[in-house]
Amino acid sequence: MSFDTLGLSPTLLRAIADQNYTTPTPIQSQAIPLVLAGRDLLACAQTGTGKTAGFALPLLESLFPNGRRPTNGSRQVRVLVLTPTRELAAQVHESFRTYGRHLGVTSTTVFGGVGMQPQVDALRRGVEVVVATPGRLIDHMQQRTVDLSGVRHLVLDEADRMLDMGFLPAIKRILQALPEKRQTLLFSATFADEIRTLAARFMRDPAEVSVARRNSAAETVEHVVHPVDAERKRDLLLHLFSLDSDQQTLVFSRTKHGADRLAKQLGAAGLKAAAIHGNKSQGARTRALGDFKAGRVTVLVATDIAARGLDIDQLPAVINFDLPTVAEDYVHRIGRTGRAGCAGRAISLVSHEEGGLLADIHKVLKRDIEMTEIEGFTPSRPLRLDPRMPKPGQRNQSAPRPARPHADRSGQQRAKGHAASGRKASPRHGGQAHRQGSGAPSRRPR
Ligand code: AMP
Repeated sequence: MSFDTLGLSPTLLRAIADQNYTTPTPIQSQAIPLVLAGRDLLACAQTGTGKTAGFALPLLESLFPNGRRPTNGSRQVRVLVLTPTRELAAQVHESFRTYGRHLGVTSTTVFGGVGMQPQVDALRRGVEVVVATPGRLIDHMQQRTVDLSGVRHLVLDEADRMLDMGFLPAIKRILQALPEKRQTLLFSATFADEIRTLAARFMRDPAEVSVARRNSAAETVEHVVHPVDAERKRDLLLHLFSLDSDQQTLVFSRTKHGADRLAKQLGAAGLKAAAIHGNKSQGARTRALGDFKAGRVTVLVATDIAARGLDIDQLPAVINFDLPTVAEDYVHRIGRTGRAGCAGRAISLVSHEEGGLLADIHKVLKRDIEMTEIEGFTPSRPLRLDPRMPKPGQRNQSAPRPARPHADRSGQQRAKGHAASGRKASPRHGGQAHRQGSGAPSRRPR
């Protein structure tokens, strides 16, 4: 299968060739002909599958048939894309610019955290494509600084995430303000009931396409768990980076404060690190992401919300400094690595207290993850995969809390860990110091 047969004009094919894409991804080969035929589309595809080009390319073709702006084409908003986060909006916008570079498409982003005025100015000048987060778009609608009466194509990108983030009322309001005669494309990682309800209410006989979820598709990702005491995670992280400091790595922290602290500590250790989370200004987030993409920053420490949907090309490694409290977020996190067929590694530093979370992740992934202890970091308490354990961050008062060993700051506990291990680690992330069963169900305590 090649792009030539999908019905795209030579101008778009040239932009695709500029990107060195040779073969359409499954979502692209399925979605592009349907979108070009004008169908509404319900697409089950996660980030990393090439879904953005799956809608951007055919929509650009619809705006510029045969590579030309129609003679009567005025600069009205024709395509509206709604995304859950600012970062995703910026990325989708960048994709429209990249694929539309030979067409002269006009476009802008509309999201919060930055001034209204530049957006007002761009909208007043006239743009054909708007990529927006729902809240800020509503602000513009209220202030009558955006005219949506010419919208012919609507994309709801990562619709499940938008619903998770409480955007349903805003989405409904936006949908009601759009012309009824339009094409609606909905992309989501799941077809949960709320998605189907939304589709039934606002879409016309949508075609359905589905590509493998990342947790089955991402076979190129190698998962590994390093059991470690919570107090020693930072040292272990530094140890891993000392073995391979040039590798672009996205590190996940559960809290904003933790992300900041970790980025500082990594910086103090001589690594080029930055943090990205919801308390940072939009400018700081964009700068950190830009620096990371350009290689000026090698370690980006992120929280789940901030990292959602980030498109970072061919990221070789993701490290979970903390496991996510919601197991599905593990899948989203590792969606950043091993993308579009590139091999990647997902490394998790897991303490005894996180055994319950790890058990949940196994359930979602439907596979066990290899466990590898690193020499000098053997945990003082073994990692047990018990789904009944109370989850960090979700403290359950009625459940008994496991007694925590008091590793004092002077490192007495650590000394024990060191002494317990005399094994050799290999010289890369995840040295194969010691493999053990990774908590297959039969090994779990009953
Ligand atoms: P997305 O799922 O839209 O976030 O895209 C994931 C990544 O795949 C992006 O970095 C794209 O540049 C890349 N990509 C999209 N389509 C193709 C393709 N046909 N061949 C190779 N890479 C692609």
